[in-house]
Amino acid sequence: MSLYYKSTRNSKLRVTASEAILKGLASDGGLFVPEELPKLDRAVEDMKGMNYQEIAYIVMKQFFTDFTEEELKSCIHHAYDSKFDTEEIAPLVKADGMYYLELFHGATIAFKDMALSILPYLMTTAAKKNHVDQKIVILTATSGDTGKAALAGFADVEGTQMIVFYPKNGVSKVQERQMVTQKGGNVNVVAIHGNFDDAQNGVKAMFENKELEKELAEHGYRFSSANSINIGRLIPQVVYYVYAYVKLLEYGEAAQGEKINVAVPTGNFGNILAAYYAKQMGVPMDRFICASNENKVLYDFFETGSYDRNREFMLTTSPSMDILISSNLERLLYLALGEDSEKTKELMTELKSKGKYTVTEEVKERLADFAAGYATEEETEETIRALYDRTGYVIDTHTAVASYVCSQYKKSEKDNGKYLVAATASPYKFAKSVMAAIDGNYETADEFELLEKLQEVSGVEMPQAIKEILDADILHDTECGVDQMERTVRTILRSKEE
Ligand SMILES: *Cc1c(COP(=O)(O)O)cnc(C)c1O
Repeated sequence: MSLYYKSTRNSKLRVTASEAILKGLASDGGLFVPEELPKLDRAVEDMKGMNYQEIAYIVMKQFFTDFTEEELKSCIHHAYDSKFDTEEIAPLVKADGMYYLELFHGATIAFKDMALSILPYLMTTAAKKNHVDQKIVILTATSGDTGKAALAGFADVEGTQMIVFYPKNGVSKVQERQMVTQKGGNVNVVAIHGNFDDAQNGVKAMFENKELEKELAEHGYRFSSANSINIGRLIPQVVYYVYAYVKLLEYGEAAQGEKINVAVPTGNFGNILAAYYAKQMGVPMDRFICASNENKVLYDFFETGSYDRNREFMLTTSPSMDILISSNLERLLYLALGEDSEKTKELMTELKSKGKYTVTEEVKERLADFAAGYATEEETEETIRALYDRTGYVIDTHTAVASYVCSQYKKSEKDNGKYLVAATASPYKFAKSVMAAIDGNYETADEFELLEKLQEVSGVEMPQAIKEILDADILHDTECGVDQMERTVRTILRSKEE
């Protein structure tokens, strides 16, 4: 059975999985969605004892139907190998009554590795399948973690050229160092004088620019995206929710058929949407707790039915969630609108022109699987400190946002069910904020000095990803204004031709 994908803004646009992965974004600016959300072809309890790679295959084959078994298995085995520092790939840690699903054991110690370690393989396989002989230029906007994970994934992958844009003052010191030290003949890193939304808008505009597309094609290039708007990012993220549930069963922590709640620190809405897809596939899940930081545009949306980006952009200690335009929400909205692509397009056009849209009460009711909350900077800090004091377990700022919102939900709903919290980054990636939360005396210390301290405090060995950037050379120092992104891309590509 073949599964096709269509654009959220034009249901007549119908492509295969490999075409959707290659394109990234539909040419009408919409996002690719499967025509139907597939079910797992076996019961979750029958997957007990399986490893990550086996479960990955069971999930992904339902979505990527035009890949052969051999191709898909090869992608999976190249992706989920010793780049991860544990064979479990995504271990579960029980602390203070919640299950933390640690998604940060890959090469760049954030959850983006879960999908970006496989995307280059999916994309190059897709290119072969579709007889694409142009060089694929991967344009990526990053709030800090996607950039490094994409760079690591695509470095020196033949037939690809990678350009990452990050907000100059919007990422942590460790995140920035990770990116500007990236090796590889096909990678470029550009700091923009703007925030993440500016970076993402700039990249989207280039995708929609037909003239630029034509010009690039003449030089043997085509664009694709490594952002979570690419379906090749989203689907690999469904895997770890299925895996987590299977492990809860296997460890006797959940009873057969018992529904669990999932709390996700949310920015672009990719991770939490993947959890929702897992439920549609048949994993027993109850509600999805969407956790925001002080950029609480999603919280307001779920509370009121109005999405309104007209507000101040806050820089927080959880920078990977400093986002006001949450791209993947479009995929959920499309479902809630009864897969009405005209209506979706209308709302997205409103978002673009007015910065805001409102859904009807009926549509809002279809989103009842989602609960939302947010954590202030103080609440985030307090959560890290309290959890550490009680259990010795150290979590990063993003995970802390979800942990806080999850415990608030638990209290207010008096729901004593099981809670899975997506732990999206290693505390090492945000060492300064994490250490300052644990002990205020660290407030003024240097971020890099604190890495050693964090090792003492957490008892968790410093990851390889941190060790290797400590004295690595700075290889990238390009900066540009928000309105110069297209020019920068042209300059980079031209320099490659010489
Ligand atoms: C990207 C990121 C998030 C947000 O995930 P989305 O899929 O964009 O909602 C949360 N935490 C960390 C550490 C991230 O890197």
